[in-house]
Amino acid sequence: MKTERTHRYAGWTAQLKESEIRRLLRYNPPYYFAGGKPGALPLRVMSSILEKIISEELTGKSEIDSTPVFDYGPSEGIPELRQVLGERLRLRDGIPLVKGEEFKEVIITTGSQQAVYGVLDAMLNPGDTVIVPRPAYLGFLGVAVKLGANIVSIPTDDRGIIPEGLNQAFELLERRGESLPKLIYTVPFSDNPKGASLSLHRKKEIFNIAEQWGALLIEDAAYKEIRYGSAREKPLDPIKKLDKENTRVAYINSSSKEAAVLRLGYSVLPSPLNDFVIKAKGFYDLCTPSITQKIALHYYRDHIDSILPRIADMYEKRAIAMKKAVDEFLVGSRTDPEGGFFVWFSSENENLNTTELLDDALKAGVLYVPGSAFYPTTGIALKEDLSGFAPCRTNFNEIRLSYSTSRPEDITKGIEILGNLLA
Ligand code: PMP
Repeated sequence: MKTERTHRYAGWTAQLKESEIRRLLRYNPPYYFAGGKPGALPLRVMSSILEKIISEELTGKSEIDSTPVFDYGPSEGIPELRQVLGERLRLRDGIPLVKGEEFKEVIITTGSQQAVYGVLDAMLNPGDTVIVPRPAYLGFLGVAVKLGANIVSIPTDDRGIIPEGLNQAFELLERRGESLPKLIYTVPFSDNPKGASLSLHRKKEIFNIAEQWGALLIEDAAYKEIRYGSAREKPLDPIKKLDKENTRVAYINSSSKEAAVLRLGYSVLPSPLNDFVIKAKGFYDLCTPSITQKIALHYYRDHIDSILPRIADMYEKRAIAMKKAVDEFLVGSRTDPEGGFFVWFSSENENLNTTELLDDALKAGVLYVPGSAFYPTTGIALKEDLSGFAPCRTNFNEIRLSYSTSRPEDITKGIEILGNLLA
């Protein structure tokens, strides 16, 4: 007789909800301020690259043939692309890589999200502690929780993570006799979700704290190339530049905002973490598609510096429209991003619940991500006055507003509608 049996799934499937952002990506209302999707893509450049690949790699082949661009490649990525990216990181961003051998240190992943997953997968056992800014990028929080990490969140202000809080968290945990955090997560350039950027001074402080306490510092540079106005003249100064021996900082970057969503990330990781991540990548997907790596090779070698300023100009106009509309129609405070895709709005009304309001907003044609999505729902939180820890807590009166995909006039109209809803 057949017995009724159900499958016994892994614990995380019940514990973790679908990411709020994944869920919201399904909607496409007229005023879309939700996902951090690139709304300015180098389409002509991409089509010329595709034509070039066709003529160089596919023309002259027989009807059924083989070619490296449609074949498996090394798990760590194709050497030519790793070299181009490595040279760029050394020459432009000052990341200390050995001249002529840059490719050895750069690894390619399928999206930088895969590097985030791989680094955490290689570092964490269940119960290990990680430090995150509060609020933090959802795609980091979800992975950390899935892998059973104990989350400690520390306060941020409009300029990102507060170094004194970071140090205090380590000190308090040590005093309590608890195991120390293995890693710290940061997004130094126009971060997700606040749009905040770390000053060079803060970067140095954070690097020194990581050194002092022996923690791995994850530097997620996803938005570093999207910069506006005078911010564009400043040197980039990634934290990784300070990591002369390549021992402290896991530098992770993405092509998604600076090229296109090719699902291609590139990282410089200390050794042997890079080997562990590549080993893990072999388990996830064997290798990143060769065709997208080839596209990225052409883009980063021949086009990025001429097209990116035009793309950033387009985002800047949208950022200006968003800031102006928030100031005009919403009551509260907002961040002032010098790049990236997001403005973070905090309502003056502390009882406002932007999570509950989302359905009404959608009915009115406006989609945003409620700030609550970026607060960890497990672990502990260092209090705002840094005096001690409290159970994790979520703020409900905040909103992440993405302006990357909307025209300025739609931003103005959509925020006006939102302002009427919040009033
Ligand atoms: N880090 C941050 C801060 C992000 O905002 C994102 C995408 N929204 C990623 C990493 C992942 O980027 P991708 O996988 O497209 O490279």
